[in-house]
Amino acid sequence: DPQKQFVLAVEALTVSFDGFKAVNDVSFYVDENEIRVIIGPNGAGKTTVLDLICGRTRATSGSIKFRDMDLTKMSESNIVLAGVGRKFQNPSIYDDLTVFENLEISFPRGRSVFGALTFRRDAEVRRRVEEIAETIFLADHLDERAEFLSHGQKQWLEIGMLLIQDPDLMMLDEPVAGMSVSERKKTAELLHKIIKNRSVIVIEHDMKFVEDIAHRVTVLHQGKVLSEGSMDRVKHDPRVIEVYLGH
Ligand code: ADP
Repeated sequence: DPQKQFVLAVEALTVSFDGFKAVNDVSFYVDENEIRVIIGPNGAGKTTVLDLICGRTRATSGSIKFRDMDLTKMSESNIVLAGVGRKFQNPSIYDDLTVFENLEISFPRGRSVFGALTFRRDAEVRRRVEEIAETIFLADHLDERAEFLSHGQKQWLEIGMLLIQDPDLMMLDEPVAGMSVSERKKTAELLHKIIKNRSVIVIEHDMKFVEDIAHRVTVLHQGKVLSEGSMDRVKHDPRVIEVYLGH
């Protein structure tokens, strides 16, 4: 089975809204440990592709295979349980909780445990929270209320809240929007750290950042895949140049 090597295999994916094909016969394949960036002009269908993968929007036709599972047949909550995490553009952190608490409440619930087991779970949660805080550059801010974090730190915290659930596939929508240059650099570093255990799909407009992170780039235009490959290949593709210069 040639699909076995891929974490995610999107094939002939199409969704129509009142006859308008927002995503039109899109196929792409994401490897283990790959950072895939989806770029394209506004309205190209980027957000809709992520909505389809996470089960927010139902495909009209086509398939989305995540390991052995067909996500087009699964509910949004089962897709999360299957190991697909999504971060939206606006942070959904709890402002009045500390960094520690924000991470703690995101720890997967699992089966209920009592007594000594609860104690062991608490130690495990603490260990994981500290590990994640280190990864997202917030180890020194664990007791700080989230509302006092910078914009960039809030974005990292939200990535941390996904990471603590240990997804195999993480999807990020414009993670560096509004960040300073140094925060962008650290976000690229963060993605390179976390990719060791998973695959990541990122929607991004900042081409410098895309160059820093992308293993491969998929260019969408009018609901279709216009070009795909390394950033170097894609940015010299005449079709891509035409679409971007035409804007
Ligand atoms: P992008 O993220 O690349 O900017 P989107 O995926 O948000 O593009 O949108 C692709 C196209 O689909 C746009 O023309 C948008 O207006 C349309 N669209 C997206 N969602 C819906 C919906 N729920 N109903 C109708 N049209 C939609």
